[in-house]
Amino acid sequence: MSDCIFCKIADKEIPSTTVYEDDKILVFRDASPQAPEHVLMIPKKHIDSLDEAKPEDSELFSHMVLKVKDIAAELGLENGYRVVINTGEDGQQSVKHLHFHILGKRKMTWPPG
Ligand code: AMP
Repeated sequence: MSDCIFCKIADKEIPSTTVYEDDKILVFRDASPQAPEHVLMIPKKHIDSLDEAKPEDSELFSHMVLKVKDIAAELGLENGYRVVINTGEDGQQSVKHLHFHILGKRKMTWPPG
């Protein structure tokens, strides 16, 4: 999608601090971190949100979910972490390109705001 900021980050048209990259996904530091460690995992392929998940993307989704623990280990989150997927208006999703927030290095609270 030509006007999608995360597609531009995936294409390196907009700079980001890469934490991990392969042919399917990119993990980079959030520009406005909400915890001492806060990264975003995105599929390189444009998918609007979790609400647009399709069976043909099941391999991509399992790749993303299984990568989370590797990223957490790389970031030193041995004490735990939180994964957040804001979805749609009530979920307060501000960037319409699916992304997993991975947050750590502080004690999270519940319920979320
Ligand atoms: P959400 O509100 O769940 O859609 O999350 C979008 C996230 O993207 C926010 O945490 C922003 O801080 C982050 N963000 C937006 N633009 C950039 C950017 N250019 N580089 C890194 N993070 C960004």
